[in-house]
Amino acid sequence: MTECEVLIIGGGPAGSTAAWKLVKAGFDVIILDKSKFPRLKLCAGWITPKVLKDLEIDIDNYPYIIQKFDRLNYYFFQKFKLPIPTTQFSIRRYEFDDWLLKRSKARVYHHKATDIKKEKDHFIIDDMFRSKYLIGAGGTHCPVYRTFFSELSPRNNGKRILALEEEFPYQVEDARCHLWMMENKLAGYSWYVPKGKNYLNVGIGGTLNALRSQNSSIKYHWELLINKLNKIGLINNFEFHPRGYNYYLRDKDPVTQLNNIYLVGDAVGLATIDMGEGIGPSVQSGILAAQSIINKTHYSVKSISKFSFPNILFRKK
Ligand SMILES: Cc1cc2nc3c(=O)[nH]c(=O)nc-3n(C[C@H](O)[C@H](O)[C@H](O)COP(=O)(O)OP(=O)(O)OC[C@H]3O[C@@H](n4cnc5c(N)ncnc54)[C@H](O)[C@@H]3O)c2cc1C
Repeated sequence: MTECEVLIIGGGPAGSTAAWKLVKAGFDVIILDKSKFPRLKLCAGWITPKVLKDLEIDIDNYPYIIQKFDRLNYYFFQKFKLPIPTTQFSIRRYEFDDWLLKRSKARVYHHKATDIKKEKDHFIIDDMFRSKYLIGAGGTHCPVYRTFFSELSPRNNGKRILALEEEFPYQVEDARCHLWMMENKLAGYSWYVPKGKNYLNVGIGGTLNALRSQNSSIKYHWELLINKLNKIGLINNFEFHPRGYNYYLRDKDPVTQLNNIYLVGDAVGLATIDMGEGIGPSVQSGILAAQSIINKTHYSVKSISKFSFPNILFRKK
Protein backbone atom coordinates (compact mmCIF):
# COMPACT_ATOMS: atom_id res chain seq x y z
CA MET A 1 0.00 0.00 0.00
CA THR A 2 1.35 3.44 -0.95
CA GLU A 3 0.69 5.95 1.83
CA CYS A 4 0.39 9.74 1.91
CA GLU A 5 -1.29 12.46 3.93
CA VAL A 6 -3.33 13.97 1.08
CA LEU A 7 -4.41 12.05 -2.00
CA ILE A 8 -5.73 14.08 -4.93
CA ILE A 9 -7.62 12.45 -7.79
CA GLY A 10 -7.06 14.55 -10.93
CA GLY A 11 -4.01 16.57 -11.97
CA GLY A 12 -5.76 19.43 -13.82
CA PRO A 13 -5.51 23.03 -12.54
CA ALA A 14 -7.73 22.35 -9.50
CA GLY A 15 -5.74 19.33 -8.31
CA SER A 16 -2.27 20.63 -9.12
CA THR A 17 -2.99 23.98 -7.43
CA ALA A 18 -4.16 22.28 -4.23
CA ALA A 19 -1.06 20.06 -4.37
CA TRP A 20 1.29 23.01 -4.97
CA LYS A 21 0.01 24.82 -1.86
CA LEU A 22 -0.01 21.67 0.30
CA VAL A 23 3.50 20.54 -0.68
CA LYS A 24 4.77 24.06 0.06
CA ALA A 25 3.21 23.77 3.52
CA GLY A 26 5.07 20.49 4.14
CA PHE A 27 2.34 17.92 3.37
CA ASP A 28 3.09 14.61 1.70
CA VAL A 29 0.83 14.66 -1.39
CA ILE A 30 0.03 12.13 -4.10
CA ILE A 31 -1.83 12.97 -7.31
CA LEU A 32 -3.44 10.19 -9.36
CA ASP A 33 -4.37 10.93 -12.95
CA LYS A 34 -5.79 8.49 -15.48
CA SER A 35 -4.02 10.38 -18.29
CA LYS A 36 -0.31 10.51 -18.83
CA PHE A 37 0.83 14.15 -18.87
CA PRO A 38 1.19 16.17 -20.98
CA ARG A 39 -2.37 15.33 -21.99
CA LEU A 40 -5.02 16.83 -24.23
CA LYS A 41 -7.65 18.84 -22.36
CA LEU A 42 -10.45 20.34 -24.39
CA CYS A 43 -10.39 24.00 -23.42
CA ALA A 44 -9.96 27.35 -25.18
CA GLY A 45 -7.24 28.14 -22.65
CA TRP A 46 -8.36 31.70 -22.02
CA ILE A 47 -7.16 32.92 -18.61
CA THR A 48 -7.59 36.19 -16.74
CA PRO A 49 -4.85 38.18 -14.97
CA LYS A 50 -6.32 36.88 -11.70
CA VAL A 51 -5.41 33.30 -12.66
CA LEU A 52 -1.78 34.36 -13.21
CA LYS A 53 -1.78 36.23 -9.90
CA ASP A 54 -3.32 33.33 -7.95
CA LEU A 55 -0.80 30.94 -9.49
CA GLU A 56 2.07 33.42 -8.96
CA ILE A 57 3.05 33.14 -12.64
CA ASP A 58 5.29 35.78 -14.09
CA ILE A 59 4.60 35.66 -17.84
CA ASP A 60 8.22 36.50 -18.62
CA ASN A 61 9.35 33.32 -16.86
CA TYR A 62 6.57 31.01 -18.11
CA PRO A 63 8.41 28.69 -20.54
CA TYR A 64 5.58 27.98 -23.02
CA ILE A 65 3.13 29.84 -25.25
CA ILE A 66 1.26 32.62 -23.52
CA GLN A 67 -0.53 35.20 -25.62
CA LYS A 68 -1.64 38.56 -24.32
CA PHE A 69 -4.77 40.26 -25.67
CA ASP A 70 -5.36 43.96 -25.14
CA ARG A 71 -9.01 43.63 -26.12
CA LEU A 72 -11.68 40.98 -26.56
CA ASN A 73 -13.83 41.36 -29.67
CA TYR A 74 -17.39 40.53 -28.72
CA TYR A 75 -20.18 40.18 -31.31
CA PHE A 76 -23.77 39.98 -30.06
CA PHE A 77 -26.73 38.37 -31.88
CA GLN A 78 -24.96 38.68 -35.29
CA LYS A 79 -25.60 42.42 -35.05
CA PHE A 80 -23.44 44.39 -32.63
CA LYS A 81 -19.68 44.46 -32.41
CA LEU A 82 -18.26 45.41 -29.03
CA PRO A 83 -14.46 45.49 -28.69
CA ILE A 84 -13.75 45.55 -24.96
CA PRO A 85 -10.39 46.97 -23.88
CA THR A 86 -8.96 44.62 -21.29
CA THR A 87 -5.91 42.50 -20.52
CA GLN A 88 -6.48 38.79 -20.98
CA PHE A 89 -4.32 35.80 -21.89
CA SER A 90 -4.39 32.45 -23.65
CA ILE A 91 -2.30 29.37 -22.93
CA ARG A 92 -2.25 25.83 -24.35
CA ARG A 93 -3.68 23.44 -21.76
CA TYR A 94 -1.42 20.70 -23.11
CA GLU A 95 1.57 22.72 -21.87
CA PHE A 96 0.07 24.66 -18.97
CA ASP A 97 -1.38 21.70 -17.04
CA ASP A 98 1.83 19.67 -17.38
CA TRP A 99 3.89 22.62 -16.18
CA LEU A 100 1.62 23.21 -13.16
CA LEU A 101 1.64 19.52 -12.28
CA LYS A 102 5.45 19.33 -12.30
CA ARG A 103 5.73 22.59 -10.40
CA SER A 104 3.50 21.23 -7.62
CA LYS A 105 6.28 18.74 -6.64
CA ALA A 106 3.63 16.23 -5.58
CA ARG A 107 4.21 12.52 -6.22
CA VAL A 108 2.29 11.81 -9.43
CA TYR A 109 0.98 8.35 -10.40
CA HIS A 110 -0.53 7.46 -13.77
CA HIS A 111 -3.57 5.59 -12.43
CA LYS A 112 -7.31 5.61 -13.02
CA ALA A 113 -9.09 5.66 -9.65
CA THR A 114 -12.16 3.45 -9.62
CA ASP A 115 -12.86 2.05 -6.17
CA ILE A 116 -12.76 4.49 -3.25
CA LYS A 117 -13.44 3.29 0.30
CA LYS A 118 -13.48 5.05 3.64
CA GLU A 119 -12.03 2.94 6.47
CA LYS A 120 -12.04 4.53 9.94
CA ASP A 121 -9.96 7.69 9.51
CA HIS A 122 -8.46 6.78 6.15
CA PHE A 123 -9.29 6.42 2.48
CA ILE A 124 -8.26 3.42 0.41
CA ILE A 125 -8.13 3.78 -3.36
CA ASP A 126 -8.17 0.59 -5.45
CA ASP A 127 -6.49 -1.27 -2.57
CA MET A 128 -3.28 0.47 -3.63
CA PHE A 129 -3.21 3.96 -2.08
CA ARG A 130 -4.03 5.07 1.48
CA SER A 131 -4.46 8.64 2.72
CA LYS A 132 -5.82 10.74 5.55
CA TYR A 133 -7.32 13.44 3.32
CA LEU A 134 -8.94 12.99 -0.08
CA ILE A 135 -9.43 15.71 -2.71
CA GLY A 136 -11.70 15.08 -5.69
CA ALA A 137 -10.28 17.04 -8.63
CA GLY A 138 -11.27 14.65 -11.40
CA GLY A 139 -13.38 17.09 -13.42
CA THR A 140 -16.94 16.44 -14.58
CA HIS A 141 -16.68 12.65 -14.13
CA CYS A 142 -14.76 12.74 -10.86
CA PRO A 143 -15.02 9.42 -8.98
CA VAL A 144 -14.91 11.23 -5.60
CA TYR A 145 -18.03 13.17 -6.59
CA ARG A 146 -19.70 9.96 -7.78
CA THR A 147 -18.85 8.01 -4.60
CA PHE A 148 -19.55 10.56 -1.86
CA PHE A 149 -21.40 13.63 -3.20
CA SER A 150 -23.73 12.67 -6.07
CA GLU A 151 -26.75 11.93 -3.84
CA LEU A 152 -26.18 14.85 -1.47
CA SER A 153 -25.50 17.38 -4.22
CA PRO A 154 -27.05 16.20 -7.50
CA ARG A 155 -25.95 17.98 -10.64
CA ASN A 156 -28.35 20.42 -12.24
CA ASN A 157 -28.84 19.67 -15.94
CA GLY A 158 -29.97 23.27 -16.43
CA LYS A 159 -26.34 24.23 -15.82
CA ARG A 160 -24.80 21.68 -18.15
CA ILE A 161 -22.74 22.99 -21.07
CA LEU A 162 -22.04 20.98 -24.19
CA ALA A 163 -18.96 22.05 -26.10
CA LEU A 164 -17.18 21.17 -29.32
CA GLU A 165 -13.66 22.30 -29.98
CA GLU A 166 -10.41 21.85 -31.83
CA GLU A 167 -6.92 23.22 -31.16
CA PHE A 168 -4.49 22.79 -34.02
CA PRO A 169 -1.25 24.04 -35.57
CA TYR A 170 -2.11 26.97 -37.84
CA GLN A 171 -0.33 29.97 -39.30
CA VAL A 172 -2.40 32.59 -37.49
CA GLU A 173 -2.98 35.74 -39.53
CA ASP A 174 -5.51 37.46 -37.27
CA ALA A 175 -3.98 37.51 -33.79
CA ARG A 176 -7.11 38.89 -32.09
CA CYS A 177 -9.54 36.98 -29.87
CA HIS A 178 -13.11 36.88 -31.26
CA LEU A 179 -16.21 35.83 -29.31
CA TRP A 180 -19.64 35.43 -30.96
CA MET A 181 -22.37 35.53 -28.34
CA MET A 182 -25.80 33.96 -28.80
CA GLU A 183 -25.62 33.63 -32.59
CA ASN A 184 -28.38 31.67 -34.34
CA LYS A 185 -30.29 31.53 -31.01
CA LEU A 186 -27.52 29.54 -29.30
CA ALA A 187 -27.67 29.86 -25.50
CA GLY A 188 -23.90 30.17 -25.39
CA TYR A 189 -21.08 31.40 -27.57
CA SER A 190 -18.33 30.46 -29.99
CA TRP A 191 -14.70 31.52 -30.02
CA TYR A 192 -11.56 32.03 -32.09
CA VAL A 193 -8.56 32.09 -29.74
CA PRO A 194 -5.01 32.28 -31.17
CA LYS A 195 -2.11 30.79 -29.19
CA GLY A 196 0.89 32.64 -30.48
CA LYS A 197 1.57 32.60 -34.22
CA ASN A 198 1.37 28.85 -34.75
CA TYR A 199 -1.67 27.51 -32.88
CA LEU A 200 -5.35 28.25 -33.00
CA ASN A 201 -8.32 27.18 -30.90
CA VAL A 202 -11.83 27.25 -32.32
CA GLY A 203 -14.86 26.12 -30.36
CA ILE A 204 -18.47 26.50 -29.36
CA GLY A 205 -20.47 25.84 -26.20
CA GLY A 206 -24.12 26.05 -25.26
CA THR A 207 -26.50 24.90 -22.53
CA LEU A 208 -27.91 21.41 -22.99
CA ASN A 209 -31.47 22.31 -21.97
CA ALA A 210 -31.76 25.19 -24.44
CA LEU A 211 -30.41 23.03 -27.27
CA ARG A 212 -32.95 20.33 -26.43
CA SER A 213 -35.86 22.75 -26.18
CA GLN A 214 -34.95 24.17 -29.60
CA ASN A 215 -34.65 20.66 -31.00
CA SER A 216 -31.15 21.65 -32.05
CA SER A 217 -27.63 20.31 -31.45
CA ILE A 218 -24.19 21.70 -30.76
CA LYS A 219 -22.99 19.94 -33.93
CA TYR A 220 -25.46 22.02 -35.99
CA HIS A 221 -24.12 25.25 -34.43
CA TRP A 222 -20.55 24.05 -35.01
CA GLU A 223 -21.24 23.67 -38.74
CA LEU A 224 -22.65 27.22 -38.86
CA LEU A 225 -19.57 28.50 -37.07
CA ILE A 226 -17.12 26.81 -39.45
CA ASN A 227 -19.03 28.09 -42.49
CA LYS A 228 -18.82 31.59 -41.08
CA LEU A 229 -15.10 31.37 -40.27
CA ASN A 230 -14.42 30.24 -43.83
CA LYS A 231 -16.64 32.95 -45.26
CA ILE A 232 -15.02 35.81 -43.35
CA GLY A 233 -11.56 34.41 -44.06
CA LEU A 234 -10.45 33.66 -40.51
CA ILE A 235 -9.82 30.03 -41.55
CA ASN A 236 -8.72 28.77 -44.95
CA ASN A 237 -8.62 25.19 -46.19
CA PHE A 238 -8.68 23.41 -42.86
CA GLU A 239 -10.48 20.14 -42.31
CA PHE A 240 -11.86 20.10 -38.77
CA HIS A 241 -12.18 17.06 -36.50
CA PRO A 242 -13.68 18.60 -33.36
CA ARG A 243 -14.12 16.78 -30.05
CA GLY A 244 -16.86 17.19 -27.51
CA TYR A 245 -16.97 17.54 -23.74
CA ASN A 246 -19.48 18.67 -21.13
CA TYR A 247 -19.17 20.50 -17.85
CA TYR A 248 -21.32 22.36 -15.35
CA LEU A 249 -21.75 26.03 -14.55
CA ARG A 250 -21.94 27.21 -10.98
CA ASP A 251 -25.10 26.16 -9.14
CA LYS A 252 -26.56 27.28 -5.82
CA ASP A 253 -24.79 26.05 -2.68
CA PRO A 254 -23.06 22.86 -3.86
CA VAL A 255 -21.76 20.53 -1.13
CA THR A 256 -17.96 20.67 -1.31
CA GLN A 257 -16.70 19.09 1.91
CA LEU A 258 -17.52 16.00 3.95
CA ASN A 259 -15.11 15.84 6.91
CA ASN A 260 -11.74 15.03 5.26
CA ILE A 261 -13.12 14.79 1.72
CA TYR A 262 -12.93 17.86 -0.50
CA LEU A 263 -14.23 18.61 -4.00
CA VAL A 264 -12.58 21.20 -6.24
CA GLY A 265 -12.90 22.58 -9.78
CA ASP A 266 -15.19 20.95 -12.34
CA ALA A 267 -15.85 18.11 -9.91
CA VAL A 268 -18.00 20.68 -8.07
CA GLY A 269 -19.18 22.54 -11.19
CA LEU A 270 -17.75 26.02 -10.64
CA ALA A 271 -17.52 27.54 -14.12
CA THR A 272 -18.83 31.11 -14.29
CA ILE A 273 -22.45 31.67 -15.31
CA ASP A 274 -21.71 34.40 -17.87
CA MET A 275 -18.66 32.97 -19.72
CA GLY A 276 -18.23 29.34 -18.63
CA GLU A 277 -14.78 30.23 -17.31
CA GLY A 278 -13.56 27.24 -15.31
CA ILE A 279 -9.79 27.53 -14.95
CA GLY A 280 -9.91 30.50 -12.56
CA PRO A 281 -12.54 29.00 -10.24
CA SER A 282 -10.68 25.65 -10.30
CA VAL A 283 -7.44 27.33 -9.22
CA GLN A 284 -9.23 29.30 -6.50
CA SER A 285 -11.02 26.23 -5.14
CA GLY A 286 -7.70 24.32 -5.10
CA ILE A 287 -6.15 27.11 -3.02
CA LEU A 288 -9.13 27.25 -0.64
CA ALA A 289 -9.20 23.48 -0.13
CA ALA A 290 -5.47 23.45 0.59
CA GLN A 291 -5.84 26.32 3.08
CA SER A 292 -8.64 24.45 4.81
CA ILE A 293 -6.45 21.36 5.26
CA ILE A 294 -3.42 23.40 6.34
CA ASN A 295 -5.32 25.60 8.82
CA LYS A 296 -7.93 22.98 9.84
CA THR A 297 -10.73 25.38 8.90
CA HIS A 298 -14.01 24.94 7.06
CA TYR A 299 -13.79 24.84 3.23
CA SER A 300 -16.25 26.89 1.22
CA VAL A 301 -16.39 28.10 -2.40
CA LYS A 302 -18.70 31.03 -1.54
CA SER A 303 -15.93 33.60 -2.02
CA ILE A 304 -15.34 32.48 -5.64
CA SER A 305 -17.09 34.81 -8.07
CA LYS A 306 -19.89 33.36 -10.20
CA PHE A 307 -19.14 35.85 -12.97
CA SER A 308 -16.22 36.57 -15.29
CA PHE A 309 -17.19 40.03 -16.49
CA PRO A 310 -15.76 41.87 -13.44
CA ASN A 311 -12.41 40.34 -14.42
CA ILE A 312 -12.82 41.37 -18.07
CA LEU A 313 -14.42 44.79 -18.18
CA PHE A 314 -11.81 47.46 -18.56
CA ARG A 315 -9.28 45.24 -16.85
CA LYS A 316 -5.79 46.54 -17.37
CA LYS A 317 -2.90 44.63 -15.78
C1 LIG B 1 -14.42 23.14 -24.93
C2 LIG B 1 -14.12 23.80 -23.60
C3 LIG B 1 -13.53 25.07 -23.59
C4 LIG B 1 -13.24 25.69 -22.36
N1 LIG B 1 -12.61 26.90 -22.39
C5 LIG B 1 -12.26 27.50 -21.23
C6 LIG B 1 -11.49 28.70 -21.23
O1 LIG B 1 -11.10 29.22 -22.28
N2 LIG B 1 -11.17 29.26 -20.04
C7 LIG B 1 -11.57 28.71 -18.86
O2 LIG B 1 -11.27 29.29 -17.81
N3 LIG B 1 -12.26 27.55 -18.82
C8 LIG B 1 -12.60 26.91 -19.96
N4 LIG B 1 -13.24 25.70 -19.93
C9 LIG B 1 -13.49 25.07 -18.64
C10 LIG B 1 -12.19 24.46 -18.09
O3 LIG B 1 -11.55 23.67 -19.08
C11 LIG B 1 -12.46 23.59 -16.86
O4 LIG B 1 -13.32 24.27 -15.99
C12 LIG B 1 -11.17 23.24 -16.12
O5 LIG B 1 -10.33 22.44 -16.91
C13 LIG B 1 -11.47 22.46 -14.83
O6 LIG B 1 -10.26 22.08 -14.24
P1 LIG B 1 -10.21 20.82 -13.25
O7 LIG B 1 -8.83 20.74 -12.74
O8 LIG B 1 -11.34 20.88 -12.30
O9 LIG B 1 -10.54 19.56 -14.18
P2 LIG B 1 -9.77 18.98 -15.46
O10 LIG B 1 -8.92 20.01 -16.07
O11 LIG B 1 -10.83 18.33 -16.27
O12 LIG B 1 -8.82 17.87 -14.85
C14 LIG B 1 -9.36 16.69 -14.30
C15 LIG B 1 -8.29 15.61 -14.35
O13 LIG B 1 -8.79 14.46 -13.65
C16 LIG B 1 -8.39 13.30 -14.32
N5 LIG B 1 -9.31 12.21 -13.95
C17 LIG B 1 -10.64 12.13 -14.21
N6 LIG B 1 -11.13 10.98 -13.72
C18 LIG B 1 -10.10 10.33 -13.13
C19 LIG B 1 -9.98 9.08 -12.44
N7 LIG B 1 -11.03 8.26 -12.28
N8 LIG B 1 -8.78 8.73 -11.96
C20 LIG B 1 -7.69 9.53 -12.14
N9 LIG B 1 -7.75 10.70 -12.79
C21 LIG B 1 -8.94 11.11 -13.28
C22 LIG B 1 -8.44 13.68 -15.79
O14 LIG B 1 -7.60 12.86 -16.59
C23 LIG B 1 -7.97 15.15 -15.76
O15 LIG B 1 -6.59 15.27 -16.02
C24 LIG B 1 -13.55 25.06 -21.14
C25 LIG B 1 -14.14 23.78 -21.14
C26 LIG B 1 -14.42 23.16 -22.37
C27 LIG B 1 -15.03 21.78 -22.36
